[in-house]
Amino acid sequence: MKMNGSNTVTSSEENQNSSSDHQNHESSKREEYLDWHDFFMGTAFLVAKRSKDPVSQVGACIVNSEKKIVATGYNGMPIGCSDDDFPWDKNTSDPLESKYFYVCHAEMNAVLNKNSASVTNCTIYVGLFPCNECAKIIIQSGIREVIYMSDKHAHKKETIAAKRMFDASGVKYWQYIPEIQKLVIDFNEINLSEQ
Ligand SMILES: [Zn+2]
Repeated sequence: MKMNGSNTVTSSEENQNSSSDHQNHESSKREEYLDWHDFFMGTAFLVAKRSKDPVSQVGACIVNSEKKIVATGYNGMPIGCSDDDFPWDKNTSDPLESKYFYVCHAEMNAVLNKNSASVTNCTIYVGLFPCNECAKIIIQSGIREVIYMSDKHAHKKETIAAKRMFDASGVKYWQYIPEIQKLVIDFNEINLSEQ
């Protein structure tokens, strides 16, 4: 069973169950748990919430063959480059005053901030198809699979170049189409659920 929006079960719904249903419910495992793809892509989207970029918030989550998360990253300024002092603008006449020279993309940050020695043979989940610069980093780091949510920049030269490099180096990439449209995190849920 897949979640449809919030998976919160209200007490009134629970009360409508017959006692035998209730017993079955307790003795069998929960069905609404996240599958792995939703979990890792959801993690990439949660990490993106850390971004200070007013226009584009992108997150990445790197997973090893044991389905363990070894890195996350989001787009942001380099360490020591203040989010308040460096520009977030996109279109400026002076390129030094736009974000492009400075901002580190999610994929780069994830690879560089990994908590394992290597990301060789790992999979990276990203909200947006990687640009050509991140494609280079992904390839050189040994990541072998890219799972992305959006390909909205497919027409851009950067994306075309990225795909050309992935194809040449044998990095698999595919678009994840989730069965759920929303993943709601409700901090109050823990107080409502029974142990
Ligand atoms: Zn990039």
